[in-house]
Amino acid sequence: MARGSQRPFAIFLVLFAFAMPHPAPPEPETDRSPPETWRPEAFEAPDYYALDELLSEEVKDLRDEVRAFVTNEVEPIIEEHAQEASFPHQLIPAFAEHGLLGPTLPAEYGGGGHSSIAYGLMMQELERGDSGLRSFCSVTGSLVMYPIWRYGTEAQKERWLPALARAEAIGCFGLTEPNVGSNPSDMETRARREGDTWVLDGHKRWSTNASMADVALIWAKDEDDVVRGFLVETDREGVSTPTIDETWSLRAAVTSEVVLDGVQVPDSARLPHAEGLKGPLSCLTQARYGICWGTIGAAMACYDTARQHAQNREQFGQPIGGFQLMQERLVDMVQEITKAQLLNWRLGTLKETGTMRPQQVSLAKRNNCQTALEIARSARQMLGGNGVTSMYPVMRHMNNLESVVTYEGTHEVHTLIVGEDVTGLNAFT
Ligand code: FAD
Repeated sequence: MARGSQRPFAIFLVLFAFAMPHPAPPEPETDRSPPETWRPEAFEAPDYYALDELLSEEVKDLRDEVRAFVTNEVEPIIEEHAQEASFPHQLIPAFAEHGLLGPTLPAEYGGGGHSSIAYGLMMQELERGDSGLRSFCSVTGSLVMYPIWRYGTEAQKERWLPALARAEAIGCFGLTEPNVGSNPSDMETRARREGDTWVLDGHKRWSTNASMADVALIWAKDEDDVVRGFLVETDREGVSTPTIDETWSLRAAVTSEVVLDGVQVPDSARLPHAEGLKGPLSCLTQARYGICWGTIGAAMACYDTARQHAQNREQFGQPIGGFQLMQERLVDMVQEITKAQLLNWRLGTLKETGTMRPQQVSLAKRNNCQTALEIARSARQMLGGNGVTSMYPVMRHMNNLESVVTYEGTHEVHTLIVGEDVTGLNAFT
């Protein structure tokens, strides 16, 4: 047969072969065996300058309680939640049980009545587990409970504080908007008074917890351009809270928008003692303080993972921890963690005596977020290829810290706050 006449037959055979149902090859099993070079339960907290000696037994007990909670209940499940982008709702009652919701608020309203240093250490330990879980607790304690306690009426305190502390209600904080982030004085959300009712219109973005919240603290400008805070139940008509799904960071947390379309709230929902931007800014100071400590928890997790790995992983016939270049990375990490711990400890003592200035918080937030992010990136490299998997916690922490360095004032915003403090010159505009 001539060659040309064979071609249509060959094409037919190929097409036929493609059309035939092929049995799917068996799916190879994903190897989920624990890594050989790191054991979460072998965590050793870096304390190079023996800061433990400065802590009371009571404070150490509180810290150790949260540390054990993270090791036993958070670490075994958190990677899977982050991979699936799902919030671990089952942990919420435990946050209340371990006093992580409003630790410094007075006991009469359900708070823990703990010192600022105890609170900081609790946030440090929680963020060793995951920045998203610390975000949940920071928002509840610093951005919802604190303003109710500081600026609210007795009725508002009694209604919300014990319920938030017991995790019977969840709160969120709406300051940022689609067009307004670093400069909240430009906020577009409006509150119009009609007799005893306020009508809220606007759009908040990046609100942690919002789509699972019962109450949103919404900051809005009134008709005289004065910023006011309103406690808005999220089941009110006109409120919607679409989740922001498309993130590579804080995947085990919930971040949402809050859309307010002619939402009516009674005047009793307004925080009467908050007037002007200093209301929301004072809340941010509280939350930033917690972040200063929390980020060092994430850094400790990354450092200790890299340390264990370096001792156990062998290349060129010896543990990689024996190579000078690997040691330099670990020493840089422990050096920066130690400096940040000292910064936090001093900041805590200033807060305790009521002399802490917001600019001092800015310096620590700026330093500690940057430090933690650099440690996470360095630890990720020390883990080699496996460092990009969820077998180790490092890449999750690294991605989380990309949000933490941005929220509650970006690195640049804190630079400008401290820059103005040291020069007396405003470089914001
Ligand atoms: P922009 O303000 O648009 O800034 C963009 C860039 O410009 C940044 O690098 C910034 O540093 C820089 N920039 C801005 N102004 C200046 C200047 N004058 N000089 C130099 N550089 C400047 N907000 C809430 O209200 N509630 C929440 O619960 C909350 N949770 C969050 C959770 C996550 C995961 C994230 C990512 C954000 C959250 N935020 C929340 C919002 C967060 O606080 C803002 O993202 C942050 O303040 C920055 O605002 P922006 O994203 O609009 O950035």
